[in-house]
Amino acid sequence: MRPVWPTGSRDSGNGFGISSIPFMAFPASQYTSSSPPSTPTTPTTPTTHIIPSSHGLAFEVKAGTRFRVVDLYGSQVVDFAAWVQGTHLREYLSMAYTRYHLSGATPTIGEELWTNNDEPILRIVEDTVKVHDMTFMSCFPKMYEKAGVKGHRSCAGNIAEVMEPYGMESVLDVTDPFNIFQNTPNYTLKPLAPSKPGDYIEFEALKDIVCAASCCPYDLNGFNGGKVTDVAVVIGVPAGSSSTGVGIGS
Ligand SMILES: [Zn+2]
Repeated sequence: MRPVWPTGSRDSGNGFGISSIPFMAFPASQYTSSSPPSTPTTPTTPTTHIIPSSHGLAFEVKAGTRFRVVDLYGSQVVDFAAWVQGTHLREYLSMAYTRYHLSGATPTIGEELWTNNDEPILRIVEDTVKVHDMTFMSCFPKMYEKAGVKGHRSCAGNIAEVMEPYGMESVLDVTDPFNIFQNTPNYTLKPLAPSKPGDYIEFEALKDIVCAASCCPYDLNGFNGGKVTDVAVVIGVPAGSSSTGVGIGS
């Protein structure tokens, strides 16, 4: 079932065609549940950004902030990358360092993802799918060219596009991604549909970071369910919430 979108304002001011809608689905009661913060804090309002199919989004989060990547329609891979603010894109989420720390490539809830400076950058705090990849590169323009579809959008192209304001100059600057909801264990292609509508992974930022997420445009051979669909990023999720925050069931 396709979710019904709220008719809130659409923000086209970021220059990437990304729509931003007011956060809808965290009722006030969830802010007053069993674990109040130990010190008074100003409540933050989670914000939901819709990433249109085959496009990307760059977003900044502060250390301690939780955010989710949500598969709205199911079977959609999201390539994810992150950089530590103030490092000119030099310190980034590294799949090689993360595999080293995890002694593998299957991160679970509570585990951390690491940078190429050997620092933890993100922690996985919730995950309704638990199937992701940290071995494949992003799809890239030359991949589609060689498949006879020149000009096709790509994850590497999306990430380079949305990261241009942060100083990224080329798809050759794109780092190896964390491929959220991608089912390719041990570099083998499995049925590529582990995620259902409303599934999500939630991270806590451990540093002030810039993130890039690409709604994977790969629509060949049944990948991404054979039809690329929108995904959402929800920033500022209160700890312990169980809602997807995008108007559909969790
Ligand atoms: Zn892709």
